[in-house]
Amino acid sequence: MYISEKAKSISPSSTLAIDAKFKQMKADGIDVVGFGAGEPDFDTPQYIKDAAIQAIKDGKTKYTPAAGTVELRKAICKKLKEENGLDYTPDQIVVSNGAKHALVNVFQAILNPGDEVIIPAPFWVSYPEMVKLADGISVELQTKEEDEFKFTADEFREAITPKTRAVILNSPSNPTGMVYTAKELEEIAKVAVEHNIYVVSDEIYEHLIYEGKRASIASVSPEMKDLTIIVNGVSKTYAMTGWRIGYTASHPEIAKVMANIQSHAASNPNSIAQAATVAALGGGKEEIAKMKQAFCERRNYMVEKINSIKGVSCLRPHGAFYVLMNISQLKGHTIDGRKINTSDDLAEVLLEKAKLAVVPCSGFGADDFVRWSYATSMDTIKEGLSRLEKFIQEYY
Ligand code: PMP
Ligand code: GLU
Repeated sequence: MYISEKAKSISPSSTLAIDAKFKQMKADGIDVVGFGAGEPDFDTPQYIKDAAIQAIKDGKTKYTPAAGTVELRKAICKKLKEENGLDYTPDQIVVSNGAKHALVNVFQAILNPGDEVIIPAPFWVSYPEMVKLADGISVELQTKEEDEFKFTADEFREAITPKTRAVILNSPSNPTGMVYTAKELEEIAKVAVEHNIYVVSDEIYEHLIYEGKRASIASVSPEMKDLTIIVNGVSKTYAMTGWRIGYTASHPEIAKVMANIQSHAASNPNSIAQAATVAALGGGKEEIAKMKQAFCERRNYMVEKINSIKGVSCLRPHGAFYVLMNISQLKGHTIDGRKINTSDDLAEVLLEKAKLAVVPCSGFGADDFVRWSYATSMDTIKEGLSRLEKFIQEYY
């Protein structure tokens, strides 16, 4: 069959693949515990659901402008002003089918074939594939565990070539959970402005910070704001993963191009979900605080437990809802005739022997690690870690 070479080069999302496998095993009656896709286990708050029901009753069931309703884009500007101290106008906002779709639009809008995008590793698995879809080239900037997986301004500068168009900044980060300080952002911004490089600032986990303060690189200076493309959404903060609403805030010229692309590729995101998002952004402080508190307790337990198990270790993440577990000591071992060479090998054996689903980080540019999501109940977390402990005792 004739298939495009570019399409063939795109790998499936490993996070969604693990999640699908886990859900299938569960449906087959297997007692499996899952830490795959980063999806809050909480239900969407009732006031958001009510707004969606009201939107249906009010007939908000038609096409909206491709970039989103004016009402929602105004609500996003208000959020950016109140929470981030940033001034944007509705023509700078494009609402998409999740932050994932927003990111796809970004790279389609800013890249020419062969343009380079610096991606600090470990990175979220979808970034390189999105860059590839836009005919760009990903340049991995490897960070170190001892630096909390954060890159410095000097390392950034060294990775720049005449073809560098953008760098991705994901703080708090999936999968490391690390958060850049205001000072670190200032230093990175200085280099970006000096070299005229876009910063694609993925702020989807901005409300999930347990230590330290939220800061957007766009607020460093007006020059930096012009070069920043903020990507955000409601999936994580408001437990709205299935509603599929994300957005960008950028220079109006970039926003216009993204809206044009989206007008042909997808039209507007779901009109009812857009109305629900207006409600979401207008409230929910208590619900957010409650979820955050639960995530924080789970993180504390997970970090402590992992570091008490022989052969594995992890840093204490400061945000998001992931723990990156170092598995380098578990590699090189043979289990039932199978050599554990990679994080994929280990994840496979864990699934088979311990009925434990974690995400191998080969696709995240970090093969010495597997990722646990703690966006799941404390009982599940205790059970999963106890399975890991037993597995290591039995096979190592
Ligand atoms: N960015 C990061 C870092 C993520 O982990 C995710 C995963 N959901 C997204 C963007 C996309 O989120 P969504 O499409 O659900 O808004
Ligand atoms: N972003 C989440 C994760 O990394 C959800 C799955 C996905 O969209 O990749 O698990």
